[in-house]
Amino acid sequence: MDSYLVIGNPVAHSKSPHIHARFASLTGQTLTYERLQVEPGHFAARMRELIDQGLKGCNVTVPFKLEACALAQERSDRVHLAGAANTLSFQAGRIQADNTDGIGLVRDIEVNAGQTLRGSRVLLLGAGGAAAGALGPLLLAGPAQLVVSNRTEAKARELVARHHAHASLQAALSRTELLALPLDASLPAFDVVINATAGSLAGAAPPIAASALQPNALVYDMMYGPAAQAFLQWAATQGARPRDGLGMLVEQAAESFFIWRGVRPPTAPVLAHLRQGG
Ligand code: NAP
Repeated sequence: MDSYLVIGNPVAHSKSPHIHARFASLTGQTLTYERLQVEPGHFAARMRELIDQGLKGCNVTVPFKLEACALAQERSDRVHLAGAANTLSFQAGRIQADNTDGIGLVRDIEVNAGQTLRGSRVLLLGAGGAAAGALGPLLLAGPAQLVVSNRTEAKARELVARHHAHASLQAALSRTELLALPLDASLPAFDVVINATAGSLAGAAPPIAASALQPNALVYDMMYGPAAQAFLQWAATQGARPRDGLGMLVEQAAESFFIWRGVRPPTAPVLAHLRQGG
């Protein structure tokens, strides 16, 4: 039976085994999918052992996404742009890397939340791994303006510069004004605000002023569960439409499943089940 894993540290909380088991059952695929916690410094060696044992692929989560990118012999455009990988596939001893986080985010926003990104004004908060994974797919969705803003401003500028330089996105960039702006009250108002910071975990105050929200803006936190609630409740009190990152989690998993199995699983029943506490 083909076997897959999610590898991270910590990883005990991961919902990926449950999600992939549901995908397998819904599509009639036969596979196993487990969690594996690896100690920092042991990622590459453990991967080689697993490949030798016949592992077909794995999802990679914090803190190994950069190492997963470095370990691969083949990298998708999305990985080149993000500098990080969350999906590895193993074929004939070679490691292929992809990053499905950003496409998962875009699908959740456009398909599940029904928010059109083309022509809209989007604010991406954060410049860490999650923001880096999201920026390329967000650009390809063709917003009129895409602003990256981060506590450490230089990281936002570097992320934007890296994307400006990427030739394969020139067509999208010509339609989109891509900017890094300081994270302060002078931000203009946006149709979509995406929180890709870890600030909610630390109980940080909302990172933007209410004036950054257009009436009825979609306010998205990549986090889900209790940590996302303070930011999303603040957004709701401003008249915005709040959405947590649970749909992104399911959609990025679906894209990984498609890469490995060549079959696109239905996501709506899996997301609905998770929302009911499943
Ligand atoms: P990361 O690489 O460590 O980056 C953390 C980011 O948060 C940086 O931009 C950092 O700013 C900012 N930050 C941290 N504490 C802050 C605070 N108190 N106030 C303001 N900004 C703060 O982490 P990551 O991998 O990008 O993950 C970010 C979040 O996305 C995590 O909560 C993760 O759970 C979530 N995520 C969700 C999914 C999903 O499927 N739903 C997928 C991937 C990630 P500085 O640069 O200034 O340090």
